[in-house]
Amino acid sequence: MNAVYLSPAFCSANGVLITGIDEKRVSFGMLHPEDTALQARIKKEYAEYLCVFTVIPPEEFNLKLSQLYAEENPDENAVQSNGGEDSRASVIDKIADDAPVINLLNSIFLEALAKKASDIHIESGKEHTRLRFRIDGILVFIRIIPTERALAVSARLKLLANLNVLENRRPQDGHIDISAEAYSLDVRISITPTIWGESIVLRLLNRSDVPLSIGALGFSAGYQASISAILSMASGLVLVTGPTGSGKTTTLAALLQELNKTALKIISIEDPVEYRIEGITQIQVNEELDLTFDAALRRIFRQDPDIIMVGEIRDTETAELAIRAALTGHLVFATLHTNNAPESIYRLQNMGIPFYMVAAVLRASIAQRLIRKKCTACNAAGCSVCAGTGYAGRTVIAEILVMTTVLADLISRGIQAEELRRTLEQGGHRTLFDDAEEKVRAGITTGEEIKRELGVPL
Ligand SMILES: [Zn+2]
Repeated sequence: MNAVYLSPAFCSANGVLITGIDEKRVSFGMLHPEDTALQARIKKEYAEYLCVFTVIPPEEFNLKLSQLYAEENPDENAVQSNGGEDSRASVIDKIADDAPVINLLNSIFLEALAKKASDIHIESGKEHTRLRFRIDGILVFIRIIPTERALAVSARLKLLANLNVLENRRPQDGHIDISAEAYSLDVRISITPTIWGESIVLRLLNRSDVPLSIGALGFSAGYQASISAILSMASGLVLVTGPTGSGKTTTLAALLQELNKTALKIISIEDPVEYRIEGITQIQVNEELDLTFDAALRRIFRQDPDIIMVGEIRDTETAELAIRAALTGHLVFATLHTNNAPESIYRLQNMGIPFYMVAAVLRASIAQRLIRKKCTACNAAGCSVCAGTGYAGRTVIAEILVMTTVLADLISRGIQAEELRRTLEQGGHRTLFDDAEEKVRAGITTGEEIKRELGVPL
């Protein structure tokens, strides 16, 4: 007769373990009880028993699995006699400190850096765990990680981020500073439980301590004059707008870098701080400590700033404070979630800022998107340089609206969006589409890429 035993490795790999045994019957807890192939395999192995299969919740499974591991290595785990959480914690710690896990995580980070990824996604699935990187704004499949290894990677990451290693039912967020031989990384980690386990997203911050120069971001030559005008402004509000991932932070960092001179005090309030810039007083928003955008903004007036950067205007309080700062002789940079440059006027108005105030304070609005550039090695045909995608690197498409006395007059009289658009068109204003079209014509990108980003064919 077979000894009724499943190795921890088998249990972990297949999501099954033994939950009860008596003379004739063995109960198996399965993470995926619909897996009839696995049931058949087990029935064959334990033909002399009646096999009963039931569903086991992941948290119970993980607890039992860690106990199994503990039983496997009794001498290395002195506290196992306590049973329960203590033993589980020490076993998970042990798994997380395992050299293969450290090496695996190290190789993931190195690969992500080599591929210039902005985010690492580790997602549990029904069968296995998927590793994907976000590169140039697009998620790219990298490879499958055995679920057993992925659980250990998750434990290791939680350990590094000082999160609760035992918690796998509630979302957890944290932060990791990694200094390895070949790199140093600032990582924001978000873990959320899913039906199959966990989804872990690692955002790689401060990939470079120095932002690109504004000239290197790829703004069209036609915008150089507007950008120079913005950089020479003494006070007022300058907005950079666009959806998440449109490169607003990078543009702001590059603008601040240009203004970063000893004679100016620059204070930024950010969430998160993506570039660390020497000479700028950077404040990290911390909601848990009530250090929100508006709370931080309220305080920094006493810090005697010349230039203020507000990472994001999300609410009326922050909008009003930013306006007040701009009205009292500061140059204020901020981001706003709007689709195009003129829309920011109406967004501010919706937040309770009257039109006359917007007209008085807003100096410029830059709307932008990041688009992928054609791979120059294969001219978008797909090659090894661009991993078959046809694209390599990204550039900016933008719309820049600089306030004029005529425009300020129209806005203060509450011009409607449609009429404003017509007026701008007549004045030869360049829209995001105009800029995109120029980049397609110049062979920098493709019409398909513009359609993907702007949702409209050119
Ligand atoms: Zn290529």
